[in-house]
This record gives sequence, C-alpha cells and structure tokens, in this order.
Amino acid sequence: MSALPQILRRESAAAGMDERLRRLGVRESHIRAALQFAAATGTSLTRTVLDLGLISAETMAQALAAENGRAFFSQRDVEAIDPQQLEGLQVAAFAGYVPAGRLDGRLRVAVSEPEKILEAQTAWQAHRVEVVIASARTIETLYRRYFARTEQAFRDAVARWEANQRLHRSADAADSGDVEWIYGRLIRHACYAGASDIFLHKTLAGVGKVKLHINGVGHLFAALREELFDKVLNKLVSENSSADALARAPQEANVGLIGGLREEFSDITERYGFRLQLNQGRSQGEREAVVRVLDRQAEQADFHALGFDESVEQTLLQYSQSSTGLVVVCGPTGSGKTTTLYAMMKKIDPIERSIRTIEKPIEYRNSMWHQMEVPPDVSEGEGVRIMLNATLRMAPHVILIGEIREDVEVANRVISAAFTGHLVYTTLHVTEAALAVTRLRHIGVSSENLAAALKGVLAQRLVQVLCADCSAADERADTAAEKRRAAFLADVEWRPRRATGCARCAWTGYRGRRIIHELLDVDREVRELIERGASAREIARVGVPRARSMWACGLRLVARGVTSLDELRRVADPPD
Ligand SMILES: [Zn+2]
Repeated sequence: MSALPQILRRESAAAGMDERLRRLGVRESHIRAALQFAAATGTSLTRTVLDLGLISAETMAQALAAENGRAFFSQRDVEAIDPQQLEGLQVAAFAGYVPAGRLDGRLRVAVSEPEKILEAQTAWQAHRVEVVIASARTIETLYRRYFARTEQAFRDAVARWEANQRLHRSADAADSGDVEWIYGRLIRHACYAGASDIFLHKTLAGVGKVKLHINGVGHLFAALREELFDKVLNKLVSENSSADALARAPQEANVGLIGGLREEFSDITERYGFRLQLNQGRSQGEREAVVRVLDRQAEQADFHALGFDESVEQTLLQYSQSSTGLVVVCGPTGSGKTTTLYAMMKKIDPIERSIRTIEKPIEYRNSMWHQMEVPPDVSEGEGVRIMLNATLRMAPHVILIGEIREDVEVANRVISAAFTGHLVYTTLHVTEAALAVTRLRHIGVSSENLAAALKGVLAQRLVQVLCADCSAADERADTAAEKRRAAFLADVEWRPRRATGCARCAWTGYRGRRIIHELLDVDREVRELIERGASAREIARVGVPRARSMWACGLRLVARGVTSLDELRRVADPPD
C-alpha cells in the first residue's frame, strides 16, 4: 500500500487539530512551534501540544467530549467513584478504556480517543454502556487504582517467598531474585497507588513495617518478617552505598529498581524517579529506608484550578509577567510548593522567554524549559553554585532555584540575579510568609538587597477536603465560643462539619486536598519595613492582616464545611 494516503490522512487530521487548538485559545506562535516539533519528532500534534504543556490534558479531553457529544469525565470525578460499583469487573490488560462507575443503571466506560469508542462499546457489550470522554491520564489512574491489582501481586510474591523459606530452610543467596521481585512489586504498587513516599522501618519487635504516604497521609501497607525486611534493606545498601559509608552517615542516592529488573518494570522506570534515603542506627539490624517517588509526568495542575483567592491569583499572575524580582513559595515538605511553582511558571510564555531551572531532584519534566539537576553526591551548596553560575551565563529570563538552603553565597547570588533583570522563583522551608524575610537575613542577605529584590512571598499548606458523602454537622465546633473566634471573618456563616467515614472515602472521612495560603505582597510600605530591618511580626502586621492570613483562609473553608476544624488545627496554628 502506498504511504501517501496515510500521510494525507495525518495531514488532514492535523489541520483539524490546529483549528481546534485555536478555538481553545492556544496562541498562534505556540501552534506553529508545536507543528514544527511534531514534524521533527514524528509524533501527533495532539501528543506534542500536551508534551509541550501548551494545553492541559483535561482541557483537551473536554474539547473532544464536546465535539463528540459525550459527557466529560474529569480527573476529579475519579474521587467520586463508589468502588463497590466496580466490584466484579475484570480488565485483563490496559487497552485505553476502562469502566468508570455506574450512572442510572448504565456502566460508564471512559475513553480518551474518540476512535476507540466503538471498540470500547464492543468490549463491554454485555452491559448497558454509556461512553464518556476522559484524558488518557484519568483512564490510566482508573486502571491503576481499580484494575491493575498491584497490591495482590505484591502479597503473592511475599507469600511465595515465605513458602520457599519453609521448604528450603537455608536462606542462601539463591533467593535474592525473589527479594528483587518483591521490592519491584512494592515500588509498582506505591507508584500505581499514587504514593509520594515509601517508609521501610523496623519496629522494636522486629517486624518490618512498610508505610506509604498517599495524599499526605500515612497508610500502613504491609508488615514483613524480619528476615525478608533485612534482605531488602541489605540489597538496597549493597547496590547504592556501602556498609562502611552507611555506618558513618545517612546516605542518599537516585535509584531505579534493585537488581536487573529495569526491563520487567519499564512501566514505572520510564515515568518515575526515585530518591532513596538510607539511615542506620547502632547496628546493621537497625537500618531503615525512605524512598521518595517522583512522578515526572504528574498532571501539572492548571494554575486557576489550584483554588487561590481571586486577588491572590491576580497578584501571582502579575508577578509571572514581570521581568525581574524574587518570588518565594514557602511551606513544609508535602505542602504542594512545587506544584504551585510549576503552575505559576507555566503561565510564562516559554517561547518568548528563556526559562531555566536548578533542582534537586527534578520533580516534573517540562520539555520547554532547560532543567538541570544537582547530583546527589555533590555538596548541595557547591552543586547549586556551579550550576547557578553556568545558568546566568546562558542569559535566561526566568530562573527557578529549587530551594535556598543555608548557603550565604548562593542566597546572595540568587538575590542579585533577581535585581539584575531576572525573574527568580524559589522555595524556603518556613511556616509563615513574613518569616521568609527573617530567614533570608539570617542566611546572610542584607536588608537593603532583600528589599530591592523581593516581590512577594506565598506561604501554603494542604488541608484534606471532607468527604461529601459522609461528613456530619460538627457540634463541638459549632459553639458560641468558636463562632466568636471566627467573627473576624466578615460575612461568614459558621456551619462547621466533621469527618466520619464511608466506603467512598476508604473510611478516612476525607477525599482530596486543597491549598490554604497567605501572600505577603511587597508593596512600598512593606519594602520600607524590610529595608529598615523590621521584625517578621511587624512585617506581617502590615503585609498579612489577620483576615488574609493562612488561618483565616482555612477558617473560611471550615465555616463552609469544606474541611474540618480538626483538620485545620492539624496543619496550621491559630494566630496568638
Ligand atoms: Zn466518606
């Protein structure tokens, strides 16, 4: 068959595609760049615009749904699925469409490519089917969460290992292959379940505890026998460090899987990065490990969807359009700082302006940015210093420095870059916006330079959102005293709710998370305070009034029953 018809077909599909992109508001210069990329790489225009981050997968799926007259099934709808409705449905292998719950007696099947609608209907013809359109990522999430059965695969591997132990008794090197498989299956399950960290830690009784952090909350996933636990830990140590080095100090490494299992687990090694932290107590028997999972293709949230107050959102957008200054995002680990930073920076045109990042590690890949990673074995300060110098020579417009730690030279170079024609983004590990000022002074930045460079500081935290199906009125919080304490929020009706728990929220009482935040916008008054060396308290009094504090932001959500007072107290401190 001649190749010509195929090329023509592809061209005409592309022609329709660029029209669709125009209607979705993608800029002409971006469409032209994407067409060039698509031609150079041979990938489809749809894939290219998604890869380049010119449009979100959700927006694209929404447009496809409208064009095909189908309902759109969003990433958020995944959280609303009742797992019981999917019980008994088997999906043998990932085929690009999956069941997504039931509605009015019909089985919803989610499809990402309209060309697959017929195939999906045929595959599920034993049911009354309603096809809905979702992004490929949503479909992957559904498959991984409800049909991939990774937890069972892990438990099967552990059971097999234990059976072998009973049979052979001698625990020789021959079973190390099994240990690798068990570890691989643990990693796969953690990735599929959306975990951010895996903790391997032994209890005093010698039980190997495996804990996963999912959505910022710890879950005890498995308890392993001591022999197996030690084997896994020893394997991690022998492949990534040495017993001597670990005895002296905690060790850090970038790891894939242990052993030669890269091929078998290519579904995860291609997408995720892993950062391993090893610690050891007094003896080798007291080893522990933490594996941080980095989903490099994580759906980068649309900035607007993060849910900032309108005025804060506008101010942050203004920052991203300016050509100079320092913007700091602060909060503890797991507060969603990186997601916010990336979402803000994605508002900057990556073609008109050159964007460079220095990260440790790179959390998400963006193909339009120049991203550099500080190697784990180089001292942090030195690594960042070398890369920052190199970066500045490349004449970037926008720079992201993953984090400013206690390094006076790095801090001062970042500050001077920010008042010499660069827009600089970074993060700091402080809890309140105004504390960023005192922290940077403490590292060794002068008040004058800080006042000249700083545009604004955003502090944020994540609170869990109450499950809509089971939350109940909270009588303990609905008291006159609590109402009085919330009275400084003008026109707020106080209707607090609390968590209970049901099957839909896995008995946690919560489903999903939201950002609470405060913004210290450096206007003239705040700038003068910083320059004069004012304390964090004085700066906060002027720059972050009580009604715009993080606590107030959270309390508004409590008043509306979005989150609970207990949850707000867990993540933030009330003002004194
Ligand atoms: Zn619930």
